[in-house]
Amino acid sequence: MKKRAIKIIVLLLLIVSCGCATNNNSNNTITQTSTIDALLAGAYDGNISCGEILEYGDFGLGTFDRLDGEMIALDGIIYQVKIDGNVYKPNKKMTTPFAAVCQFESDKKFPLETKADYKKTKEIIDQIANNKNMFYAIKIKGKFSKMKVRSVPPQTKPYRPLAEVAKEQSVFNLQNISGTIVGFKCPAFVKGLNVPGYHLHFISDDFKKGGHILDFTLSKADCELDVCHKYFLILPDEKDDFANIDLSQNRSKELEAIEN
Ligand SMILES: [Zn+2]
Repeated sequence: MKKRAIKIIVLLLLIVSCGCATNNNSNNTITQTSTIDALLAGAYDGNISCGEILEYGDFGLGTFDRLDGEMIALDGIIYQVKIDGNVYKPNKKMTTPFAAVCQFESDKKFPLETKADYKKTKEIIDQIANNKNMFYAIKIKGKFSKMKVRSVPPQTKPYRPLAEVAKEQSVFNLQNISGTIVGFKCPAFVKGLNVPGYHLHFISDDFKKGGHILDFTLSKADCELDVCHKYFLILPDEKDDFANIDLSQNRSKELEAIEN
């Protein structure tokens, strides 16, 4: 494991009345490296290896050093969807500038309504994941009549803001595809740190296609939720570009533009 000169760790223990007392910090914890606003500002240098991020969880999403594609972590394996829309298995030494993971343990499982699109699916999940101030990891496994995903191209320095780079994204309209949606529903108060609301990525069952989800239509799927009441934030060290970017601005509009 890479040794860091400075590793600033902020631990926000959001103990909400869930009655599940545990001393194991890895349980029900979302661990995140860097912040979404840093990524929006163009801090694309990887700051933690894929191998290290997997020590914090087997499930999650993010991107890679130089913004080289979309990350999906599923069952302890990290997959990379590059700009060509294909899935690669990066070396464990590959780094990430932004990722969020948890050790996925299903707390709730329910079938989703057939033919629901992304908007309708969010409404259904909202009824069950109904604590607006809680984190939820979301796993949806099934068949999708439509799956619209995107990936982003790797960047060279000087890095441009993500809203500009996202204009060069590739969008893929997959049809009749089986796979898994991996992602999170985060509370509104993570604004600036992570994505408030839903952020979902997709990987097909044959591990050939995937990306950041823009929209989908279900054919048949089950949803599992992991209620996460702990949030662990790892900040990049002083040699990374993170140290020199302006994080005082409100980047909500930029985030909205790139998420949708
Ligand atoms: Zn994404």
